[in-house]
Amino acid sequence: MRIGLDLDGVTANFHQRYIDEINDRHNSNLKLSDWKEWDLTNIPWMTREEFMETIKYVNTSGAFRHLEPIRGALSGIERLRRNGHSIHIITHRTYQSRLDTVPWLDTHGVDFETLSFSKEKGQICNDLGIDYMIDDIQSTCEDVVKWGSQAILFTRPWNRDYELKNGIYRANNWTDVTELINAK
Ligand SMILES: [Mg+2]
Repeated sequence: MRIGLDLDGVTANFHQRYIDEINDRHNSNLKLSDWKEWDLTNIPWMTREEFMETIKYVNTSGAFRHLEPIRGALSGIERLRRNGHSIHIITHRTYQSRLDTVPWLDTHGVDFETLSFSKEKGQICNDLGIDYMIDDIQSTCEDVVKWGSQAILFTRPWNRDYELKNGIYRANNWTDVTELINAK
């Protein structure tokens, strides 16, 4: 099968890097589990403007080259490849981020067929004939299903309470991802 793969929140731990940056700036003790809304509006001392400004800083600081992989992601991707599936990375990162993204994928030995930079993930999945897109954002999963593929929602604090809809499955970790796909 053709597998669509999101990077941030599924393969690379962008959010922890972001939390570290916020904690450095505020001398705070924010944890990943506190991230319940995509723009962190659940954190009283964080304005939307500051959220966006810090995201922009982290995105352009070369951080993408040094992110930690999500636990189990690298071996999970390898297992999918060994089982004959092809990996198509579809990320909402900017095209400029490829200068850090490609070396990161190379360093961690992530083997893939295609790499797309776009926020129109449903449309890209349709273009590439993706069977399952793995993503951590519920609205992206819904968009993917709307365009005719199926989606695997990778559990993160911000999607924990989401009720699954037709064509969307949930994986709590990378073992779940590989078992789900191999069972299809
Ligand atoms: Mg993501």
